[in-house]
Amino acid sequence: MVVQNIHPKSILPKGIHPMIVTLGSHSALQILKGAKDEGFGTIAICKKGNDKPYRQFKVADEIILVDEYKDIMKLEKELNQKNAILIPHASYIQYVGIENLEKLKVPYFGCKAILVWESDRNKERIWLTRAGCRFPKMFSRPEQIDRPVIVKFHGAGGGKGYFLAKNEKDFKEKIKLHPERTFVIQEYILGVHMYAHYFHSPLTNETEIMGFDKRYESNVDGIGRISARDQMVLPEGKVDPSYVIVGNIPVVVRESFLPRFIEMGENVVKESKKIVKKGLFGPFCLECVLTPEEEIYVFEISARIVAGTNPYIDGSPYTWLRYDEPMSTGRRIAREIKLAIAQKRLADVLD
Ligand code: AMP
Repeated sequence: MVVQNIHPKSILPKGIHPMIVTLGSHSALQILKGAKDEGFGTIAICKKGNDKPYRQFKVADEIILVDEYKDIMKLEKELNQKNAILIPHASYIQYVGIENLEKLKVPYFGCKAILVWESDRNKERIWLTRAGCRFPKMFSRPEQIDRPVIVKFHGAGGGKGYFLAKNEKDFKEKIKLHPERTFVIQEYILGVHMYAHYFHSPLTNETEIMGFDKRYESNVDGIGRISARDQMVLPEGKVDPSYVIVGNIPVVVRESFLPRFIEMGENVVKESKKIVKKGLFGPFCLECVLTPEEEIYVFEISARIVAGTNPYIDGSPYTWLRYDEPMSTGRRIAREIKLAIAQKRLADVLD
């Protein structure tokens, strides 16, 4: 199956001009730019006051302003009249919510059913372990803690408030600061973080590596700049790490890890077909820690485009190898839609 070298606009059927629409946030710049590069019209739905980047970088043919991202629910008719295809990213889950997304009757690129598996930490663990991934040990009760753990909270707010605990006593002290929140206790894996970006095409049935990144998290990535001596004199609580993501840094993985990364992606897709009808397709990310023993732990999956692909608007080293033309994940999505239209298989990539 030839995915490259299809000229923009050349295969969009006459009379039908689908528009690519997304919320103006997260990875919208590359999604919209990629769609334009593939010949689609583009719409950005922006929260009032957040629309400047989408105007300044000229990625949107049209901008719809809303008070809240949730207001996308009121745009159903308008979007359908415009023949729009919705491209999801993390802001949909965070600000619109899975239940609303399920109700929204606008063609959606991806598999909605998989979102439940991604967002429920227990389901996610079952899926990943069945796919053969090495998942950090989970502790259902604090009394079981027998190694360093990371305590993660559910819901919006990213890594805000996450904390490390070395034992039960430490955990009980620290959890007092978060009386309201529900959490999971997970083994803390010491190594380096590596976020592997994939794209699975239901048209070619191939799982492509799109790139890798590491995250820039505040303040955990700044603490190392303060010597242990200076940390000691800071007031209580000031040097507790938090994991709030503020940016992404491109990484190229050691080449000998690639066969394992490819296999992991393929296995996760294979397993997803057993848990939901169409299975996982489109972009996804395995969030990993690589240890000095060269083990790859997967502590989370994102079943959609991740912001870690944003440094690669012009393509990553891996997409350059494969495509010989700039191929961001956003553009790859648009290309998949274009191919699906050409092959009359649009139903295979939309939900
Ligand atoms: P998450 O919300 O699961 O993406 O986690 C936020 C951040 O916490 C990650 O980007 C990592 O820096 C860190 N982290 C999460 N889980 C683990 C783990 N099991 N071991 C080590 N670091 C972790």
